Amino acid sequence: MSVMRVPLALVALPLFLGAWFHLAATRGPDSDRTTQRKRSRQARVIKTDDEWRKSLTPEQYRVLRKKGTERPFSGEYWNSREAGSYACAGCGQKLFSSATKFDAGCGWPSFWQAAEPGTIEYHDDFTLGMHRIEVTCSRCGGHLGHVFDDGPEPTGKRYCINSVSLKFIPDSALKR
Ligand SMILES: [Zn+2]
Repeated sequence: MSVMRVPLALVALPLFLGAWFHLAATRGPDSDRTTQRKRSRQARVIKTDDEWRKSLTPEQYRVLRKKGTERPFSGEYWNSREAGSYACAGCGQKLFSSATKFDAGCGWPSFWQAAEPGTIEYHDDFTLGMHRIEVTCSRCGGHLGHVFDDGPEPTGKRYCINSVSLKFIPDSALKR
């Protein structure tokens, strides 16, 4: 009998271990990766360059994805005074309120504060031979414009934003 038990154990143990490792290798890490993918999808909008090109107008693509700048006084919102919210044209995240919009005289819509903390990311920009702070949308990474320290009180900030990076949602559209 003892002769039979040893071969049985030798066959059963590798089978058991093999099945266990198989489960651990295929199910565990995969479900972890799926969870991470879901989490990052909720937090950020990630598209390929081709997908952005298809979902944006050529001018939106040039500014939002290629860090372009629209000509001053050419955009849709530089002189707008209507009450409402300005959302990211790339992903729809609310970025600014008309309550913080002011006329900076520069030809681009200007705001002295972001609508919500964490919706805007700040980056050093050394292009054009100067140091500026570039601002991007925290959700999709779209280029919005720059922020300067010559804005009005209470913050002293001037967010100088391309109209084409924004989509205006009038307050009247919410009151139904
Ligand atoms: Zn965005």
